[in-house]
Amino acid sequence: MFRSLLSSIKQKYTRRGVVLMYHRIATPLSDPWELSVSPEHFEEHLKVLKAYHVISIKELADILGNKRRMATNTAIITFDDGYRDNYLAGKPLLEKYNLPATFFIPTNSIGEQQEFWWDALERICLQSPNLPDKLILEQPDNISWDIGNSGNMVSPADLYLNLCVILRKMPATQQQTFIKTLETWANNTNNRPEYFTMDKKELLDLQSGKLFTIGAHTMTHPFLPDFPYNYQKSEIQGGITHLEELTGNPIKYLAYPHGGRDQNTLDILAESGVGLAFTTDPQHFKADTDKLTIPRFQVGNWDGKTFEFHLNNWMRNNTLA
Ligand SMILES: [Zn+2]
Repeated sequence: MFRSLLSSIKQKYTRRGVVLMYHRIATPLSDPWELSVSPEHFEEHLKVLKAYHVISIKELADILGNKRRMATNTAIITFDDGYRDNYLAGKPLLEKYNLPATFFIPTNSIGEQQEFWWDALERICLQSPNLPDKLILEQPDNISWDIGNSGNMVSPADLYLNLCVILRKMPATQQQTFIKTLETWANNTNNRPEYFTMDKKELLDLQSGKLFTIGAHTMTHPFLPDFPYNYQKSEIQGGITHLEELTGNPIKYLAYPHGGRDQNTLDILAESGVGLAFTTDPQHFKADTDKLTIPRFQVGNWDGKTFEFHLNNWMRNNTLA
């Protein structure tokens, strides 16, 4: 009796699991945030994962709620942002290997024929055939850049990073106006369909399969700590309500856009019906991990062997390896 209690306590505090975070299953021309995994590599990851204990998000909720014991080598698969390639390339492979996954969906982009701002910005800065050699911004601050690869010039890659910082702080309507201004400046206005998101029909088809769960990711994907309480609340609650109306199911799980949250965010979630919320902090979890700040590891475009190396490091140590 005493020994089994001791071993159960030991397991609770020593067994570790990892939550994996994917974004796109695709092979883009450039990928500044390393968000894409090729379909070939994704399949290699799933082959590796078959030897691990991959559980659904519901089972994770049971572990963190002390209703179920955690097995060794536990892993959870998640996807952020609802890209259509998740449906076209990810879903068939997950079904082939019978592995569960959760998809966190920002609701304002469902079925939109428009790139996310970070993808549009990548197209403008890194894919424009003839980028002008100067950008002058009067709004939000008076800044100008000389663009090029010599002396005091700013490279297109650095311009991209500078503009990311500016765009991330804006509300969504302002982001759209800003992107339109940049598109005109660069004479590059064609959104790329391979960067679009799943539509309603695809989301409903996704959730009709037993393996898949849909979770919230706000409405417009803001970096929540940059915004006041009421703005955060309408973004979080609006995203949940939209998905509940769409799917007919309660939405119990959420991922913070860009991993960002502050005390206001945590207070809002504590009052909502959300049971588990996920960050982008690269750490493993244990059975006593806080349910509203569950860490996740971003998976790179690695072959199976490299993926397994990282997975084992993540399981064993609390390192960034
Ligand atoms: Zn996201």
